[in-house]
Amino acid sequence: MGCDGNEEADRLAKEAEESDRERLSVKAPISFLKSIFKKKMMEDWQSDWEDEDTGISTFNILPRVSTQTCYWKREEILIFTGHGTFPSYLKRFSLATTANCPCGNTTGPPLHYATECILTASFLMTKPAQQHELIWFRNVASNKGSRLKNPTIASPS
Ligand SMILES: [Zn+2]
Repeated sequence: MGCDGNEEADRLAKEAEESDRERLSVKAPISFLKSIFKKKMMEDWQSDWEDEDTGISTFNILPRVSTQTCYWKREEILIFTGHGTFPSYLKRFSLATTANCPCGNTTGPPLHYATECILTASFLMTKPAQQHELIWFRNVASNKGSRLKNPTIASPS
């Protein structure tokens, strides 16, 4: 009582009871209904994921939604999302005076540290051609050996 949502639900239930429409009867196993609802939920989630303006770098690596856990380590999340302690990221929030890498590189995205920065030279991976960067990120993200070699991901053991 007094709750608009409850009163509206009661009103609709009474209206349905008094209507001449035939009652909806679904004769299907619960597991079947669950699978239909799950499929619909995944489609809605995928649609939302594709329409979203944020998280583009993560979307580029993981374009399909999944209920499976993605076991990225913290360092992997930082490089794949670009939300690490990179000058370019810190500059966005005025936490750094420059977006440039300390080596002098003016681009400074995470890919720079993994493939071309002289400060991480002993760990460098082969830099992909620009048109292959997306594939490179997906391959590194899906290959444990590549992830361990990545200087921005690998941690001292
Ligand atoms: Zn650098």
